[in-house]
Amino acid sequence: MRIDTRLAERLKEVRHSSTLLITSKAKKLKSEGFDIVNLAAGEPDFDTPDFVKAAGIEAIKSGFTKYTPTTGIPELKELISEKFKKDNRLEYGPNQIVVSCGAKHSIFNALFVLVNPKDEVLIPQPYWVSYPEMVNLCSGLPRFIKTLPENDFKVTPRQLKEQLNSKTKVFILNSPSNPTGCVYTEDELREIAGICVENKIFVISDEIYEKLIYDGLKHISIAGFNKDIYDLTITINGLSKSYSMTGWRIGYLAAAPDIAEAVSRLQDHSTSNPNSIAQKAAVAALSYPGGDFFSKVVYEFQNRRDYCMERLTKMAKIKAVKPKGAFYIFCDISKTGLKSSVFAERLLGEKYVSLIPGDSFGMANYIRMSFAASMEQLKKGMDRLRGFLEGVGQ
Ligand code: PMP
Ligand code: GLU
Repeated sequence: MRIDTRLAERLKEVRHSSTLLITSKAKKLKSEGFDIVNLAAGEPDFDTPDFVKAAGIEAIKSGFTKYTPTTGIPELKELISEKFKKDNRLEYGPNQIVVSCGAKHSIFNALFVLVNPKDEVLIPQPYWVSYPEMVNLCSGLPRFIKTLPENDFKVTPRQLKEQLNSKTKVFILNSPSNPTGCVYTEDELREIAGICVENKIFVISDEIYEKLIYDGLKHISIAGFNKDIYDLTITINGLSKSYSMTGWRIGYLAAAPDIAEAVSRLQDHSTSNPNSIAQKAAVAALSYPGGDFFSKVVYEFQNRRDYCMERLTKMAKIKAVKPKGAFYIFCDISKTGLKSSVFAERLLGEKYVSLIPGDSFGMANYIRMSFAASMEQLKKGMDRLRGFLEGVGQ
């Protein structure tokens, strides 16, 4: 049997996740003693909080190590339901919530239960690397809506309308966004919601960076405007970014009961419950009395963003759009004359700074730099980047 006939068709076009690949390469080089500045990482640099770790340890000690209900333990789902009420003014009962192995898994599940072969899924470009691949894996067709830096990389209502046709099934919304950090305003979301309702388009609203939002802006959940958009929206969130729990793999979705029930059936026959120990840790995280925990983190991230922006605006060959949320800066590198993959490869090889080439996000003349690194590392990274830029372009 020839090698290319061994695997199913659906895997043929699917590539590795460059974000995961490059981040682990940077971590490996660092562990081998190389002085790497890792600006590739898509995860907060601070440790999982001690009170969360303690809950995980306690779960092991007390023998909470067996199967749980597929969609998550009731106390966790209750806390998620309260979180939606408190933070997002959304009413989702526990029967509408499914806890999964990370938000990535929740998005995949949502697409899997909604998309029929050849259904079109609208994805704003630049996009998080996994969205198109997940659509492909579900036999759908990714359709990109190219956004512009002058519009903060946000889809306009007009652009959205222009892309609609009878095969359009889902629109993927990601605010705050990876890789651009753009944040949609309430008015923009309201208009998008109106278009989706009018045309019966489902919205997968990926709100994983909800807590990482700057300049006093407020995150708005699209599902909250009215009953019609609520019924069409699958709201995605998780603990990876907000509680620095990327390795614990806890994410969740909330949706109309029929959709949540379909996801529950899917999960019954794929992963069963998410890890029991991580669920107990998530209970501890979500029980933390709010405010303080996030305000410290957000304050720190905003300082880092401001520092990086100040440095980047002095680098003539780079043009960065100031992010309003998440922890990434997306930079136009056209003036260097280098393609993003070459830029990233050379920067790593010559200056030991790792970042993600923009072609992973559908933009070959951009790079994504993460500021989820200490100030000391960011300073070092910016110094090295400036040095690198002196040697490229005209
Ligand atoms: N959505 C976006 C936009 C992300 O950047 C990530 C990062 N991994 C995820 C979803 C998935 O997060 P998780 O670690 O919870 O799977
Ligand atoms: N979402 C993060 C990133 O974009 C983590 C890696 C991943 O899951 O893609 O870098």
